[in-house]
Amino acid sequence: MINSIFNICYFIGLIVGSVIRGVYARQYKQTRIKDARKAGLDRLLRFLPFLGMFVIPLLYVLTSWLDFADYHVPTWAGWIGAVVFALALWLLLRSHVDLGRNFSPALEIMEGHSLVTHGVYHRIRHPMYAAHWLWGFAQALLLQNWVAGFAMLVSTLPLYLVRVPREEQMMLEYFGEEYRLYMSRTGRVIPRLWR
Ligand code: SAH
Repeated sequence: MINSIFNICYFIGLIVGSVIRGVYARQYKQTRIKDARKAGLDRLLRFLPFLGMFVIPLLYVLTSWLDFADYHVPTWAGWIGAVVFALALWLLLRSHVDLGRNFSPALEIMEGHSLVTHGVYHRIRHPMYAAHWLWGFAQALLLQNWVAGFAMLVSTLPLYLVRVPREEQMMLEYFGEEYRLYMSRTGRVIPRLWR
């Protein structure tokens, strides 16, 4: 019974996250792209989290195929998962709001692009990716199954490892010293609280 509640929490969060993303994806389509990096591998790696957050969790709740991999965590840990998921959604929303028209799902510089260093970007350079990690940890506590629970963490890792250095390189090329200084006072996904 309690596991069904956690499953429902997960899918409510998934809907909220999809709405946030959907709104900003529409805004992105109305913004002109100034410069784009090669998208081949990036596009493939972007598809993996879609499997991890959506397709595999759906298979988990709609079929019995993944039942062999079920595990159980204490109820309090499931509630921690719900709280972490709420935090992830808040961070996802805030990072989209703060990034505004500079947002792109790909490695791109938009028309009129400016470097955002305020709001949730004040102490970390990649709050949106941090939100994905929090989502992954929450998913492991809410969907108590070795395959479905860890699908987001596993599917996010390749994108993170490939994307972040390329993105920072692109930002350095475009914003130069301004981005270098920004890097020196921020953490990648863990806030830098000291200089
Ligand atoms: N890595 C960031 C943004 C993800 S969206 C995060 O995790 O929050 C990806 C796009 O955001 C990149 O193509 C880049 O053009 C843009 N971007 C990344 N950091 C930025 C910043 N600090 N200011 C403005 N644009 C940024």
